[in-house]
Amino acid sequence: MSDTSTETRSSETEKFVKTDTEWKQELTPEQYHVLREKGTEYPYTGKFWNIHDDGTYTCAACGLELFKSDTKFDSGCGWPSFWAGIDHSKLTLQPDNTHGMRRTEVMCSRCGSHLGHLFDDGPKPTGHRFCINSISLEFKPEANATK
Ligand code: FE
Repeated sequence: MSDTSTETRSSETEKFVKTDTEWKQELTPEQYHVLREKGTEYPYTGKFWNIHDDGTYTCAACGLELFKSDTKFDSGCGWPSFWAGIDHSKLTLQPDNTHGMRRTEVMCSRCGSHLGHLFDDGPKPTGHRFCINSISLEFKPEANATK
């Protein structure tokens, strides 16, 4: 990450477009599969499902700040779960009827990468459960988090 936070902020909502070839060069094969091919990591295998540190979770593909640790909760499902995003304009939702299920897919609004799914069995106050693949996220501990 660069330290041009002002510049990042002003272009925060601008679309971030890359070719498949570019994504393949930048992401690991595992990241590419989940982020760009809408894969799912196995539960309890990711790096963040059991992390409780204070900080900010960003999109692993483009760095957009997506979730704060204070909305993370222990869902017992084996994936990091949040009851809210930092700003819902940063999250794009769309129906996903694959695999014989009716689900709502969650994507990063800036780069279009697949993050996970949204369910309605989360805790108060929202009742939302954003069930997100660890591999789709990076974590910035509180001391380094930008305000
Ligand atoms: Fe992104």
